[in-house]
Amino acid sequence: MATIECKNLVKKYDDGFPAINDVSIDIADGEFIILVGPSGCGKSTLLRMIVGLEDITSGDLLIDGKRVNEVAPRDRNLSMVFQNYALYPHLTVFENIAFPLRLNKNKAEAGNIDEKVRRAADMLDLNEHLDRKPGNLSGGQRQRVAMGRAIVREADAFLFDEPLSNLDAKLRGQMRTQIAQLQRTLGTTSVYVTHDQTEAMTLGDRVAVLKRGVLQQIASPRELYEQP
Ligand code: ADP
Ligand code: ADP
Repeated sequence: MATIECKNLVKKYDDGFPAINDVSIDIADGEFIILVGPSGCGKSTLLRMIVGLEDITSGDLLIDGKRVNEVAPRDRNLSMVFQNYALYPHLTVFENIAFPLRLNKNKAEAGNIDEKVRRAADMLDLNEHLDRKPGNLSGGQRQRVAMGRAIVREADAFLFDEPLSNLDAKLRGQMRTQIAQLQRTLGTTSVYVTHDQTEAMTLGDRVAVLKRGVLQQIASPRELYEQP
C-alpha cells in the first residue's frame, strides 16, 4: 500500500498543449480515487504519468513520500489494468496471471508462484478456468484475468483505465461488485478512470473531476452527485 502525491503536475505533449495542467492531488494510503471527465480531458495521461509510461513536464510525483519523477515504471511497483485487458493470447489463464511473477525472479524465489496464482484466482472465481486461453473466455472472465495479474504482483497501488467499459451492463454490475469486494479484502490504494456514475458511487472514496487538463473538483461521491 502506498500514498500517491501529485504536486502541480504538468504534461505537455509535442504540440505544447497541456494535457495535464497544474494538477495536485493527495491520495491517502488505501484510498480509492475515481477520475472522471469528458473524453480528452487528460484522465489517461494522468494515469500514465503516475505509472511511469509518460514523462512529467513539470511538477512532482511522490509515491510513499519518495519522488519518482525519473523512476522507471518497473521500479515503481504499481499495477495498471487496461480497458482492453492486454492478455497474452497464447498463454493459459494460469500463465497470464503468473506472468509478472516469472518476470520478477527475486519475488518469484521468495514466494510460491503456484500458491499466489491460485489465491488470486480464488478471489476472482477463476479456479475452474486456469487451463483455458483468453480466446475462449467471456469479456468479464478476461477482465478478471487482467485483475488477477495485477493482484499477484502485490503492487503498492492499482491504476484502472476504464476496466469495465467493454463489458455489457450485466457483467459490468457483477464486476463492479467483485472489485468492491477486492477493495475491502486488499485495501490497495487505487486510481480508477470511469464514465460510469454507478461505479464512481459504489467504489469511490473520492471523485476527482478533470476538465481540459485542470482539476475542477475533488469530493466524496455523495457530495458530488447528490448536491442540489
Ligand atoms: P482522456 O483519457 O481523458 O480521454 P487523454 O489523456 O487521452 O484524455 O488525452 C488528453 C489530451 O492529450 C487530449 O487532447 C489528447 O488528444 C492529448 N494526447 C493524449 N495522448 C497524446 C499523445 N501521445 N500525443 C499528443 N497528444 C496527446
Ligand atoms: P482514451 O481517450 O481512451 O485515452 P484515445 O483514443 O484518446 O483513448 O487515445 C488512445 C491512444 O492514443 C493513447 O495511447 C493516447 O496516448 C494516444 N493519443 C491520443 N491523442 C493523441 C494525439 N493527439 N496524438 C498522438 N497520440 C494520441
